[in-house]
Amino acid sequence: MNLKIPIETSARHIHLSQQDFEILFGPGSRPTFFRELSQPGQYACKERLTVVGPKGRFEKVIVLGPCRSHTQVEISVTDARRLGIPSVIRQSGDLDDTPGCLLIGPSGKVQLEKGVIVAKRHIHMTPVDAIRAHVKDNDIVFVITTSYERSLIFSDVVVRVDPSFSLAMHVDTDEANAFANEDHPTGVILKLFNGHTYSLQTWADELQAGIDR
Ligand SMILES: [Zn+2]
Repeated sequence: MNLKIPIETSARHIHLSQQDFEILFGPGSRPTFFRELSQPGQYACKERLTVVGPKGRFEKVIVLGPCRSHTQVEISVTDARRLGIPSVIRQSGDLDDTPGCLLIGPSGKVQLEKGVIVAKRHIHMTPVDAIRAHVKDNDIVFVITTSYERSLIFSDVVVRVDPSFSLAMHVDTDEANAFANEDHPTGVILKLFNGHTYSLQTWADELQAGIDR
């Protein structure tokens, strides 16, 4: 039986360090709970910020809580184009050599030197889910999605396993629109190459070079 994975769309959002939070929203201020997210302990805040790049800006971008050790802005490739910054695909927290941006809040501004990423698509799951799906933390898998007329196989999907997680695949708005995202889309992990990890880029290069697997 394949594990049916709910696919959730992450719109652009911001994680803030406590220090940056206080610069933007005032000394001593703390995130205000707005609503729960699917991952336990994570929540959307009432606070909103303006994100500014060389070519454009986004107003009222949602802040997620709780505060983290480093400020991180997550956007889509389309968003990066509109801001005029490079789109760098990374796992959450891997912020070296990523572009920055300007954040504007009601009480101040923060010029980020780095921290703007396009999140690498990923699946959150518990250790029990991982056993059922025959995968482990940091595995790279293929996921085939349900859709109407536009199903898609995503490659390069990172598996993240932690007891605190709840089963969900996270994609950004570009990725969701690419498979004509329904109300409650789901996907299953596809075992290609005998279930071994394989880079789709390598596969594409091989096919173009006439190598058939
Ligand atoms: Zn996630």
